[in-house]
Parts: sequence; C-alpha cells; structure tokens
Amino acid sequence: MKKVRFAGNCVLDAIIIVALVFTAILGAPLKSEAASTSYAGQQTQHKIVLAVGTDYATDLYVIQSGQPGPVVMVVGGMHGDGAAGVKAALEISKLNIDKGTLLVLPEANKRAVQLNQRTVAGEADLNRVFPKTSNEQPTSVLVQEIYGVVRDFQVDWLMDLHESSGYSKVKKGNTGQSLIYYPPQKDAVKVFEKMVNKLNQSISKPDEQFSMLKYPVTGSLARSAAEFLGVNSFIFETCNKQGLETRTNHHVNAVKILLDEIGVKDLPATQTREKVVLAPGTKWATDLYIIDSGIPGPVVMIVGGVHGSEIAGIQAATKMKDISIERGTLLVLPEANKRAVEVKKRTGTGGSDLNRNFPKTSNSNPSTTLSKAIYDVVKKYKVDWLMDMHEGFDYYSNPATDSVGQTLIRYPSTEMYSMGTKIINELNKDISKSSHKYTLLKYPVKGSLARSAGEFLGVNSFIFETSMKQTLATRINQQLKAANTMLKELKMVI
Ligand SMILES: [Zn+2]
Repeated sequence: MKKVRFAGNCVLDAIIIVALVFTAILGAPLKSEAASTSYAGQQTQHKIVLAVGTDYATDLYVIQSGQPGPVVMVVGGMHGDGAAGVKAALEISKLNIDKGTLLVLPEANKRAVQLNQRTVAGEADLNRVFPKTSNEQPTSVLVQEIYGVVRDFQVDWLMDLHESSGYSKVKKGNTGQSLIYYPPQKDAVKVFEKMVNKLNQSISKPDEQFSMLKYPVTGSLARSAAEFLGVNSFIFETCNKQGLETRTNHHVNAVKILLDEIGVKDLPATQTREKVVLAPGTKWATDLYIIDSGIPGPVVMIVGGVHGSEIAGIQAATKMKDISIERGTLLVLPEANKRAVEVKKRTGTGGSDLNRNFPKTSNSNPSTTLSKAIYDVVKKYKVDWLMDMHEGFDYYSNPATDSVGQTLIRYPSTEMYSMGTKIINELNKDISKSSHKYTLLKYPVKGSLARSAGEFLGVNSFIFETSMKQTLATRINQQLKAANTMLKELKMVI
C-alpha cells in the first residue's frame, strides 16, 4: 500500500488534517453537511477544498477503498464550457470502489464552469499553465494545489475530461472523440487501446468513433503529470455535436472501463434518503426529500403544491417521495407553497402566485424567498428533468374555457419533446373519451418554475396538468403514471 507524501505542500497537508479532525468530531453527520461519509467496511469518502479561501475554491472528492491498489484521478471543468465532463465527474464522485483510491475534481476551473466559458475573460487558459519543464514551479495557488494532489497522492492514472467541436475521425487536427495520451509504460498504452476499442464497440457510425492521439499540449495537466511526475495520463475528449446525455455517458463509461481494466471494481451502492428544509426559519419553510441511489444517473425533480388548491399533484408528489430508485437522484418537493397547501388555495393568505415569481429573464433573480430557495435547489443539484404537478378546473378540449386540464406543457428541447410524447401516449392508452385525452403543449408561462428552469438552466422541464373534472383518485393515478413513465424511460425505476 502506498503512503501519501505531503512534503512540500503544507497547505494541502493542513486541509487534510482539518478534514480528518472534522470526521472524528462529527462522526456521521447529515449528508448535506458532511465533511466525511463512511461506507460499509473501511471505505471512506471525504471532500477537500482546493485553493480554499480564494475565488477558485473547488471540491476534490477523495474516495478511499481502504485496500491497496491504484490511485486514479478524474478531472472535469478544466475548461468551463465542457459541461459533459463536469457532469460525468460529479457522477463518478459517487462511485464506491473495492481497491485503491479515486480522486475526483469535477470543477477544476470553478469560476469558468459557473460562467460556462472556456476560460474566465482576461485570464490564462488553466490547461496551459501547468509546469512546462521539470523544475518550473506552478504559478497560481489553484495550479499549485491541483499539481500537488497529483504528486502527493502519487496518482497512477490521470484522466482529464474535455470536449471539442469536430470529430477526430472526420478531419486531421480535430480532437472530438479522442483519447490523447503521453506515451507511458507499454502496459498503459494497452489499457488506452482497450478503452477506445470498448467504447467504439457501441458506436455504429465510423465518423463518431474514438481515436488514439498524442500528445497532450504543453502546459496541460495531462502533459505535465505524465512528463514530469510519471503518471499514466491522458485527455479524454467527447464531441459537442452530440447531445449532453450521450457525451456524459461516454465520459462515465470511459472512466468505468479504465477502472475495470486496471482491476478496480465499483461496488454496489447504498441508497440514501434525506430530508432538508427549504427556506428554513421562515413562514415558507417546506420539506425537500432527496433520494440518492448512490449510482450515477439523471437528477430528477418532482414538485407538487406550487398551487395549494391542486390536490392531486400534492398527493401524488407525497407518494413519490417514498419510492426507491435504481440509479441517479430523485428530489421531491410535495408542498412547494406550504402556506397555500394548508389553506387549499392557489396562493397562501396574503402571498403571491409562486408560479410567477421565478426569473423572467436570464439576468433577473427569483423575486421571493420561497422561489429563490426552490430555484437554488434546481441549480445546486444540477437537475436534468423537472416535473411540476398542477391541475386545471376543466378539460383543455373545451373551447368555452381557457383551462389547460389534461395537458403536458413542456419547455421545448429535443429530449423533452420525445419524453412528453411518450408520457401522454402512455396515459392516453387508458382514456377512451377523446375529449379527455392528454395534449402536448409548449411553453410554460413566464415566471413559472418549469419555464425558468427550462429557459435559463437548460433543464428538461414541464408542467403536468390533470383535469379536476375527474375523481381525485383518477387524477392522482394519472399524475403518478406520468411521473413513473418518465422514471422508467430514464431507467431509474424498473
Ligand atoms: Zn397550478
């Protein structure tokens, strides 16, 4: 078993000690506040903040199996516009492993990730400022600490997740869909070849296949780690001509193939359930339920009670909070506007319509404490799919009223169109009267949660409306069926 050296990096050393002390004091605290989470056996997971106290502060996840084995580091967000790499690294940070150590740095350049830009304007490209010679010292605290992690944890394998615009198989010079390595030991090249071959087995179009390229550019983390620290190091690039989910899957699969090839297994995960209070200490305080399968996968949020009079959504969401999932994370907020739910009215006494208080432009903020708390959840958990459960007083098919009962109102995206169609087809199978069937509509109203999440946060987002002309039991069943159809499509339930 390797010993971790800390000589020459006092800052990191001190942070690790702080993390260990926290673990000792807190034991196993609530996950949301956890400095450390213990798993069965000897495995431990903790977070270290790199560049702590600076604008670049970013989390490093340290997953230690407690058994000897390789040290693998996965990096995302070196460039802030590589969304799939960040997402994949966050998924990878949840893995449990049977040997060795897994280090995951999902947002290397956190400021650039937050801006969704390759680099922060006026700043150097982070992936060009790692040491270019064996005795060059890293220039910034962030570079110094990332490089320090590679050196001090004695990383064996380093995978830096990136994205590019053109397919490598289409044109020389393109790097999309490639593994760019620095020639290491012979055995490592074989591992890289196996990774590329395995990934390509599931890609039918020749243009979209992965290539092996060399070398990582001078000044890149992968290059410096390989050349000066002897790490088996490479850049892994997807192509952003493909959808986010496809690209993310390529990254996650590549990491898993690497682990498998070097003899590290990912262990069955344990599902965790947690309840957190939104807008705590205010009159709007309401419970959010977080079901984390412990297995990488989509993040889905289900919301009820945005309008307190729309009972079927509240009751369906209340049921959904107790289900188990096979992968990904499910967030359930059954009583979004609890004050309105308590009085069974559209809005709480003296309150405004919650579904008009979310941002109406990309640079405006939620206008109330409650809408801000909910919007922050969507951002914090990087929600992929959002279903907001509502009800209408009539059927959409009745031209005499403007009700949207029996509709699914989506914010347009390709994925959302396909999902919305599947959901309403599934529901309409059981509805004989054509005027009672579901219709797929678009645009949730401005200021609604579904609209703002779709338009400004890129979430696949929709409002689902049952008609109150039906019995409560029927409406609840339709809400549940819609939610379950989505979760089945996403392979989160069987
Ligand atoms: Zn409503």
